[in-house]
Order: sequence, then C-alpha cells, then structure tokens
Amino acid sequence: MSSAKHGSTHRFETLAIHAGQTPDPQNGAVMTPVYFTSTYKQDAPAQPRQGYEYSRTTNPTRTALEQNLAALEGAHWGLCFSSGLAALAGLVHRLKPGDHVVAGNDLYGGTYRLFVRCFAQYGLEFTFVDTTDVKAVERALRPNTKYLYLETPTNPLLRLCDVAKLCALAKKRGVLSVVDNTFATPFLQQPLALGADLVLHSLTKYLGGHSDVVAGALLGNDDKLRAELAFHQNAVGGQLGPMDSFLVLRGTKTLALRMERHCENARAIAAHLAAHKKVARVMYPGLKDHPQHRLAKQQMKDFGGMVSFELKGDVAAATRVASATQVFTLAESLGGVESLIEVPTVMTHASIPAEERRKAGLADGLIRLSVGIEHVDDLVLDLEQALKKA
Ligand SMILES: *Cc1c(COP(=O)(O)O)cnc(C)c1O
Repeated sequence: MSSAKHGSTHRFETLAIHAGQTPDPQNGAVMTPVYFTSTYKQDAPAQPRQGYEYSRTTNPTRTALEQNLAALEGAHWGLCFSSGLAALAGLVHRLKPGDHVVAGNDLYGGTYRLFVRCFAQYGLEFTFVDTTDVKAVERALRPNTKYLYLETPTNPLLRLCDVAKLCALAKKRGVLSVVDNTFATPFLQQPLALGADLVLHSLTKYLGGHSDVVAGALLGNDDKLRAELAFHQNAVGGQLGPMDSFLVLRGTKTLALRMERHCENARAIAAHLAAHKKVARVMYPGLKDHPQHRLAKQQMKDFGGMVSFELKGDVAAATRVASATQVFTLAESLGGVESLIEVPTVMTHASIPAEERRKAGLADGLIRLSVGIEHVDDLVLDLEQALKKA
C-alpha cells in the first residue's frame, strides 16, 4: 500500500506512524506540536506564511492529521471535521434543493437522522435501499441523484455491500459514491482503491481508538471536489480543533497493531458464541455461515472487531447479560481499546420503531459487542459468566 502524495512506497504500518509528520526543523521535536493558535502573523497584508491565516480554515496540527489519514486511505487529500456527523453535513452542504441521495437502509442512526430530520427540509431528497441488492440500487438512481452513500459492514447486523460493483454502477450514472469506512478502517478496507469517490470516517471510533475524542473526516482524490468541500467547511465552521487532531494523530500510529488484535479477539469470540447453547445466531463476517463471507474475504483484509449475536431469549435476557459483564463495559460507541457491550433495541437503535427494526432483521434479543484488545481469555470468561444470566 503506498501513497503517491507522499512520494513514498512505504507500507501501511510505516505510513501510519510517519505520514504528515516530520521532526521540527528548528528544535527537532519528533511529535507534531498542538498548535493552539487562532491566527497567524502575515509577512505583508494578504501574504500568509505557508497558507496559514486563521485556524477555522487551516491549522498545522490538523494539516498533519489530514495528510496522515490521506496516506492511510490512499487519497490525495483529507479534511477533518469536529465529528463524523459534521463531516457528513460538510458533504451535504454542497448539494442544492432538488438534489437526490441514494443511501443504504441499514445506516448508522445519526446518519439517517441528519438526512431525514435536518436536510430533507431544505428540499433534498433521500431514498433508502437495501445495498446488498445491486439491482435495487440501480433502480433507485435518478437523473438528479448526486451521491450513492454506502456503509459496510453495517451496524449492528454487520451486513456487507459490494463496494466495487456499486461504485462502478454509480460512476456509469454520473453519481459520486461515498463510503462510510468507520467500521472497517483503512487497515481492513480501502474504498477509494475499490472505485469510491469519497470516504467518510467517524474518527471517534477505531482511528482515534481510545474513546477519548470525537472527530470526523472526508477523504478523496478529486481536487475540485476538495476545494468545494473545503469552502463549505470554512464557511460553516465544523472543523476539528488542534488538541483533538493531536489525539487522533496519536491514535493512528497504533491502528495496525490494534486492528490485528481486535480482529483476532473478535474471531475467537464469534467462534465461541456460535457454539454456545444460549445463542441463537452470531453475526460476524469472518464466520463461514455469514451470508457475505466470500465478499468479506474479497474486499476486506480481515473481518473487524464488531460481533453481534442473538440470544434465544428476549430483550429482558439480553439486558440481564449486558448488565452482568465485568470486563465488557455497558456503553454505546465502539472502536476503543476497551471492550464494550450494548443492547441495540433499547440503546443505539431505540429510536427506530419496533416494526421497522423487526423488518430490518434486528431481533429484540440482539447484543452488540465492540471487542477490545484485552486478553481474549478474560473476554471469553466474562461472556461465559454473563450468559448464565440469559
Ligand atoms: C459513530 C458513527 C458515525 C458518526 O460519527 P460521530 O463521530 O459520532 O459524529 C457515523 N458513522 C458510523 C458508522 C459511526 O459508527
């Protein structure tokens, strides 16, 4: 994996640590400083040094992170926002009334909410389709469709869509394809190489990796698109601050190591749960019985750290199990070093009406795990004792 922008043929693990960062030429500081400054001295009126003028527009700590993320996704450029949803809003800000977006029907809840509750009122149109069905996506595209918005694997059912096929379809129809790569991370899946036009991240999750920062990003190759998105980002003001940029920059250095362990632990836990008598069904792309196991092997390097499973019992049983773990923390969010457990029906997905949830295949007894990087034996034992309460 290489990055043309950085003129380097270095591999992912090396880019993660070095891309966008060079020791300070004045004092040798190895780590990029946190540039706590709102403004910059100009050499003459309207002559900012190296383009830095005001920190809503650009800040050197943020620039380092943007270059780092671009190298990891194989992109020409990156733009960092104050959250994943701010990045999504940044994407939508360049649309005009009457424009149409086709998106998956199994999206992160906040993405659905931003589209339907915030942007539909400005005359934008949204159609939600099953993106595992290429024909259904093709039928949903219209002459005014501007984005095909994909998420894979999805949350919490861990369904996949065929990124290469769908992006080729979008290209043929003159539609920009966007992939939310939060769950897979660029270590496991690189949508731009599969034909996507843009990648979106909630950096809050695996890229930050330590549950200590909320941040988002857009990445791409087309410079004209970058200019439009950067214009709106600066005009609206949803940029990422220097301290938060620093925290994510620190997180990406260990992304490869963390992801390897997340995947290894998740694989062991999925296998263990699949053989458990109180478990009805396990959803993990690495399991042979996952409906898209083959696609997962094609477009992902490994299968990720998220595991969902259905108990034979109902939501009360799921609630008892999720309340009984001691190493897994009962909490929303995902992607940090620590393992988390949650019950989507009453937590992350409670805002979806029960009827809709069932139609989507989201059972009441579903439990979602964000498998961390603790010792796998401690995680298995913890689930084992908690499942006695099911
Ligand atoms: C968390 C998340 C988001 C939203 O990101 P924030 O940083 O919380 O704003 C978007 N997409 C996915 C898949 C997520 O998990």
